[in-house]
Amino acid sequence: MNRKILSLITAGVLSAAVLTRCGKEKSEKDSVKIAYLPITHSLAVLEEAEELEKQNGIKVELVKFGSWPELLDALNSNKVDGASVLIELAMKSKQEGVGIKAVALGHHDGNVVIVSNDINSAEDLKGKTFAIPHRQSSHNILLNETLAKGGLTVDDINVTELAPTEMPSALASGQIDGYCVAEPFGAMGVSTGAGKVLYSSEELWDDSICCGLVLTDSFIENRTEDAKSFTESYKAAGNNLDKETAKATAKKYFKQNDEVLETSLQWISFDNLEITEDTYNALTDKVKKYGLSDNPPAYSEFVKNDF
Ligand code: ZN
Repeated sequence: MNRKILSLITAGVLSAAVLTRCGKEKSEKDSVKIAYLPITHSLAVLEEAEELEKQNGIKVELVKFGSWPELLDALNSNKVDGASVLIELAMKSKQEGVGIKAVALGHHDGNVVIVSNDINSAEDLKGKTFAIPHRQSSHNILLNETLAKGGLTVDDINVTELAPTEMPSALASGQIDGYCVAEPFGAMGVSTGAGKVLYSSEELWDDSICCGLVLTDSFIENRTEDAKSFTESYKAAGNNLDKETAKATAKKYFKQNDEVLETSLQWISFDNLEITEDTYNALTDKVKKYGLSDNPPAYSEFVKNDF
């Protein structure tokens, strides 16, 4: 074999090896792992997952969790690239040194205060038991705002933390007298006849923040272009989520009947999911006022709008 043929064969083998390696790296590199809970508040990320791969080849690997603490463990230990999560939980992680940034809202409005049928006002909650999913949540803030309407504070009631899925049945059995939690569990309490809406979130807190889309610093730093594409297409997916699209996406991912979904989706919207400084500062004021945290992260260190 002369030297020229040998070098051609060598070059061919080498380029095949390079191609194979690049191909493998590409498929691993192009996947984005996003954690979520099966709630209507995460519909923008579920909707985006359907579209993003078609548009620019980034595959969204959705990782479903059953509770916020499990989801937080995965996010805080970099097992996922991001999550749709209660923003107060993400703020707490950031405060404790976890490298994450909030890049968009999960939704606008979309929460209700559900009470048993014998409760007709905030004052009636005195001495009653009320469930929230986690102390670090906008549901806790909405509870505080509800009580303030009746001249009460959390010291006048019993506050308990329950998993979202347990709340409608706990209300029906009389174990609790009210709850506030991510949807569609509020709508389920209405649908069973066990409870009614005392307040919707916009009656208590104008333009309330609840969930956020957060990404890890390592994903943002190591794959900046993917993080940018992911965030842009997430916001576009939110803008496309009208009531019908939201219902179709929800039916694909959740086992809820049409009545529950239709009731729930009346209360929520997904357009314009950018986190503005004004709405974030209103959130941090309430986080401090109601004792969720004395030192929440500043907008400039936690929110990223500048891809
Ligand atoms: Zn939410």
